[in-house]
Amino acid sequence: MLLKSNIDELKKIIKKENLLTNEEERYCYAQDSANIRHKQELPDVVVFVETIEDVQRIVKYANTYSIPIISRGAGTNTVGSCTCPKGGIVLNFTKMNKILEFNPDDMTMRVQPGVVLNDIKKLAESEKLFYPPDPSNFKVSTIGGSIAQSSGGAKSFKYGTTKDYILSLTVVLADGTLMRLGSGTIKDAVGYHLNQLMIGSEGTLAIVVEAELKLIPLPEASAVITAYFDSIENAISGVNGIIKERIFPATIDFMDKNSINTVEKFYPCGLNIERECMLLVEVDGFEASMNTQLLRVQKALLENGAIDIVSVADKDKIEAVWTARRASYGAAAKLAPDIVTDDIIVPRSVLSKMVCGCRDICRKYNLKVCIVGHVGDGNVHPQIALNLDKDEEFKNLMQAKSEIYALAVSLGGTISAEHGVGVEKLSYLDKILDTASIDYMKRIKSLFDPNGILNPDKIFKI
Ligand SMILES: Cc1cc2nc3c(=O)[nH]c(=O)nc-3n(C[C@H](O)[C@H](O)[C@H](O)COP(=O)(O)OP(=O)(O)OC[C@H]3O[C@@H](n4cnc5c(N)ncnc54)[C@H](O)[C@@H]3O)c2cc1C
Repeated sequence: MLLKSNIDELKKIIKKENLLTNEEERYCYAQDSANIRHKQELPDVVVFVETIEDVQRIVKYANTYSIPIISRGAGTNTVGSCTCPKGGIVLNFTKMNKILEFNPDDMTMRVQPGVVLNDIKKLAESEKLFYPPDPSNFKVSTIGGSIAQSSGGAKSFKYGTTKDYILSLTVVLADGTLMRLGSGTIKDAVGYHLNQLMIGSEGTLAIVVEAELKLIPLPEASAVITAYFDSIENAISGVNGIIKERIFPATIDFMDKNSINTVEKFYPCGLNIERECMLLVEVDGFEASMNTQLLRVQKALLENGAIDIVSVADKDKIEAVWTARRASYGAAAKLAPDIVTDDIIVPRSVLSKMVCGCRDICRKYNLKVCIVGHVGDGNVHPQIALNLDKDEEFKNLMQAKSEIYALAVSLGGTISAEHGVGVEKLSYLDKILDTASIDYMKRIKSLFDPNGILNPDKIFKI
């Protein structure tokens, strides 16, 4: 708990209008997109930072008095990673939202952490360049949050995740020191890759104040195929069939019957509600290759039992299909007062066991689930709609979660592909990582942040 004297000191080092101290204002920063049942602690103060020097001054001050610092972008992570279990100072990065440099010849962009991914994508596209990482909510989530959560998205199958597009980072360390990690060149073999260590570290090691991004040429054309199936097993064998055809789609995404029906109920867009599930395959590349790619994908899907295949190449129609897929979380959220999404990943060869297993476990615990996923990667997102205020439903959720995680591990997978650990999965860490690696992670944390001020009690407790 910060004292009045601490707040008074902060007012001396930061513009007064950039501080939020009222309870009502702080309340908005106690939660993020994770649905957590228990009462959340409020931050003591929220600070809108405008410059690197602002960040340095605040962090230095916080370190002196061991005050927690919680960085925050758009607050859309789904694991409670910017909640404030020990109160403290929330650093809000929405005012550090400038694109500082765009160099189309080098295919790089230098950005502040609060820049929204969609702005990066749009500017890159204006020069026929491409920033591929695309968490489904890329129209609101920030680059700082995406770096900290190692975000992926639908295009990871072909293009990888955030970690593949970070050339260099400028970070503020826990004592306020500024450090540049990486070189900004396409290759770099000088020493340890400390910039990669920051990716996925959930704001627990340092605070990102600038990032230099790698861009790639924008594919000339793209097309989307939607294919419906009467069994989950057939849909998943369709995924493997596409790969056997030596086609490398940008995306292979999945929606089960419940998610199709729920999207159609709340955001009707013409999906076929009769079938068991749907694959959404996007291919891209040269215009001249589109037909061949589409024919081969269709062949693979038909050979694996696809029914009702539709392909679209028109930009607006492609966007409409994606809007349906991206609406799945919002639609599922309308089924009950609360929505909890998860994020397991398994090798693709056992994917249908994972998808069917999620469905069966949720059925066993009487939980409404809409299953979507980036199935090209083996990544499954069960979206569970429930009322967290009802003890029975909460208990069922917790049991279902641990059975889903146990299944993922037994199938050779892990409990987070792209959403991170935050506070949500912290108690499962020792089921996934061996003692030695957790010990080394804690040592790294202590080296970067000896007073434990940076996003405390996330990933693990020290
Ligand atoms: C509807 C919906 C769909 C989603 N779809 C996907 C998806 O397809 N793929 C995917 O990977 N994710 C997905 N997510 C999760 C979300 O997109 C990512 O976690 C995300 O990119 C977070 O960005 P943010 O700006 O909201 O970060 P926040 O939630 O504000 O913060 C996330 C983490 O980053 C830290 N952080 C923020 N800024 C900084 C900084 N400058 N320096 C250091 N640490 C910082 C925070 O402390 C926190 O630990 C989805 C979320 C929602 C709600």
